[in-house]
Amino acid sequence: MSMSPVAPELDPADARVYRRVMSRFATGITVVTTAIDGEVFGMTANAFMAGSLEPPMCVVSIGNTAKMAARLRTAGHYGVSFLREDQQWLSQNFAGKPIEGREPTFRIFDKTPVLEHSMASMSAIIDSTASCGDHTLFIGRIFAMTEEGGRPLLFSASRYGNVSFEDVDDIKLPGFW
Ligand code: FAD
Repeated sequence: MSMSPVAPELDPADARVYRRVMSRFATGITVVTTAIDGEVFGMTANAFMAGSLEPPMCVVSIGNTAKMAARLRTAGHYGVSFLREDQQWLSQNFAGKPIEGREPTFRIFDKTPVLEHSMASMSAIIDSTASCGDHTLFIGRIFAMTEEGGRPLLFSASRYGNVSFEDVDDIKLPGFW
């Protein structure tokens, strides 16, 4: 039995097509943080992934026009906090839409800030960068991690969502690593 595609053909050179297709990839949401001369900066990012297991590394893709790209190059380190389903306001805050009356708070892992409360967070030294078109991949070597647990905030088709299963803190370690 053959399956009929939703759309017959898509032009990968069309920016709208690219955005539409990529938005079908469901992700969690992170806030990437750093500090320069004691001043803390954050940015919402869903282009995050685990990098290497040994040594533990992670990767985040930052647009070259985002202020965070220059900030990370200056600071040389970053924190990543995974948002919980009740933290949509933090995603909005760090994407340029602050919510009146709500102020994010941070704590410091060594010299690297992370959000004070989140599902899990980590701090990483920037090991290398790789140019990726109009973005830069910041590859970090993780030196601290913490886990508070809770239900993740998801992002798909430009909408926020959450997972349907209940036992989110019953972690089954991935067998492929
Ligand atoms: P700024 O504009 O300086 O900061 C961003 C916002 O964070 C501002 O509103 C600022 O007031 C606030 N902020 C910064 N520091 C603090 C602080 N210490 N306390 C309180 N508020 C603070 N872009 C990417 O490049 N890569 C991605 O993977 C990515 N994923 C995204 C996923 C989602 C769901 C969304 C909504 C956006 C995503 N973006 C991504 C876009 C990115 O978050 C925005 O373009 C962002 O505004 C860029 O910020 P900036 O680095 O230019 O810094």
